[in-house]
Amino acid sequence: MRIGAHVDPANPLDAAAARGADAVQFFLADPQGWKSPATRPDADALRASDVDIYIHAPYVINVATLNNRIRIPSRKLLVTHARAAAELGAKALIVHGGHVTAGDDIAVGFDNWRKTFAYAEKEGGLPLPILIENTAGGDHAMARRFDNLARLWDAVGEFGAGFCLDTCHAHAGGEDLLGIVDRVKSITGRIDLIHANDSKDTFDSGRDRHDNLGSGKIDPELVVAAIRASGAPAIVETPGGPEGQSADIALLREKAGG
Ligand SMILES: [Zn+2]
Repeated sequence: MRIGAHVDPANPLDAAAARGADAVQFFLADPQGWKSPATRPDADALRASDVDIYIHAPYVINVATLNNRIRIPSRKLLVTHARAAAELGAKALIVHGGHVTAGDDIAVGFDNWRKTFAYAEKEGGLPLPILIENTAGGDHAMARRFDNLARLWDAVGEFGAGFCLDTCHAHAGGEDLLGIVDRVKSITGRIDLIHANDSKDTFDSGRDRHDNLGSGKIDPELVVAAIRASGAPAIVETPGGPEGQSADIALLREKAGG
């Protein structure tokens, strides 16, 4: 069982060692910006490392939106980040499901996802798996509630899209964690990664505030059960720096084994 943490991009391998992590996730550029990733001096070390590397795409990416001025650059930036992530030997690139705006036809949002994968194929293909992550908020999200997730998968399943299950987002988004792995898999057929986070907020609050395991509103046993049932690697995206994340990783190792 591989367990790791979301860390600062400055020195991910040192951060992994400080946390006893088998895996790290980090950003390759400002998550709130549109910049392409810069070349990393530690690329060789990252490629050679035993630590599994996951890259999180910037939050500004929204390939579902009907707004051309966001959708078109989002597609391009997704492909750019996929290439940069593959250069580092990353296992996958994680990206949020995105959303449309109130009043938009949500069906167009799902189709925009299909078009994103079709665009990437035309541009030479994606060099690593893209994991679409469930999100916590909004009434027009592609991957908050699983009825929409099913419609999204009808659009992207044929392209081999992967799925990242965030336990904080599921809880805050209104999807019960009990039995969640079977429910997801009945839609996507796969879970490639678990974001193992507690939530500061109540069920179905729509808020996205992560907490350390056992400190928030989620029973840690449900997070452990999701990791076990999925057999997927887990990344904690929790506060508290090396100390807080080490404790979360240790808790998962102790309870989930491995
Ligand atoms: Zn997450």
